[in-house]
Amino acid sequence: MMRIIFMFLACVGGLFAVYVFATSAGIVSGVTAFDNLLGSIFPVTISAIDLHKAYTTEKIKLLIVPGHDNEYEGSENHTIRESDLTLALAHSIDAHFKKDARFETIVARDANTGYYMTSLQKYFTEHRDDIIAFKNIAQKKMEVLKAHNFISSNVAIERKGALSEIAFRLYGINKWANENDIDIILHIHFNDHAGRVTRTGKYTGFSIYVPEHQYGNADASKDFARVLFDELKNTVGPSTMPLERGGIIEDQELIALGSNGSLKGVAALIEYGYIYEPQFIYSAVRSPMTQELAFQTYRAIKKYFEKGSSAYMTGQTSLLPYKWSGVFERGANGSAGVLALQAALKKEGLYPPQGKSLVDCPLSGSFGVCTELAVRSFQQRYADEVLAGAWPNGRVDGATTKKLNELFGPR
Ligand SMILES: [Zn+2]
Repeated sequence: MMRIIFMFLACVGGLFAVYVFATSAGIVSGVTAFDNLLGSIFPVTISAIDLHKAYTTEKIKLLIVPGHDNEYEGSENHTIRESDLTLALAHSIDAHFKKDARFETIVARDANTGYYMTSLQKYFTEHRDDIIAFKNIAQKKMEVLKAHNFISSNVAIERKGALSEIAFRLYGINKWANENDIDIILHIHFNDHAGRVTRTGKYTGFSIYVPEHQYGNADASKDFARVLFDELKNTVGPSTMPLERGGIIEDQELIALGSNGSLKGVAALIEYGYIYEPQFIYSAVRSPMTQELAFQTYRAIKKYFEKGSSAYMTGQTSLLPYKWSGVFERGANGSAGVLALQAALKKEGLYPPQGKSLVDCPLSGSFGVCTELAVRSFQQRYADEVLAGAWPNGRVDGATTKKLNELFGPR
């Protein structure tokens, strides 16, 4: 034990006192002392209780970071760039918060140009050396902790290490967020399946990354992410990638979440889905789906803060009301009408069909077996008005369209 202390002392001087304190307090045994020590290395910077308290007395400062930028565009599929998807979604989320006096929100990139907002750009330029020093100190501290087995290296998912310029910007955002007392940092991303060779990959669904448990913002972030996950899973199926099982993934290395203890505020990185999923591919569906993901994200965050009151706008969707016209049937892909139809059938409790989940039958805007089955059930439910003695055919036209408009159309 002494050996560890001395080695540690040699590397990170000041922490010795902390360890002695833990020892003299008699809680040296195993995990407790270890946790105490880690707690002192990465002191708690934010708690869920304080955050909730702040909500009642002051505005919550939320920074929304649309993943990637004009130079480093992230993943792409066909003509769709991740950096554009994240920009649109971030600003749609922001539009909800801008109408809510309880929040002060900032989006890291400009809605029109996609470039970093002026104050951040200035910060990157004017504080370049400070940011680099901030990054180096954080990385060095972590290296030492790992070298002496205080923290074991834990790579959740193999990634290409962030290019140095990207790493610089992410550390810059963290430093800026710390200095500006940002309460919550929300990073917006769309996933990709690294191994895909065709335009479609193997996995679907969403996931939320949070800081690894030893970091000072970890507990509050996980608490926040849990509510977010529980709400979003009613709109999008959880990721089917085995490493993302459970939906909330702790990550040691993501700078966005404050790796190496570089961020004080609550942090969550949401991968809203895989870039090749039909709801993002087809332009007619992409826009309403973006609006819906934004609305559900806003609703989830409100629910997190409004815990005391009952469910916050539960069951509401931005996809309805909708006015259907024309025919919708099997094979209609990339249609906003089908997306709204799926949302309406979901409200009726018929979509996804019995025994199926949003993983099998996502809100996709594409009319396949899932939608056809659900339309049949809808026709059976309203048989008197819709079928006139005919067999339910799973096709939306005539009386079925009329009934949908009556129930879910604009008043
Ligand atoms: Zn990304």
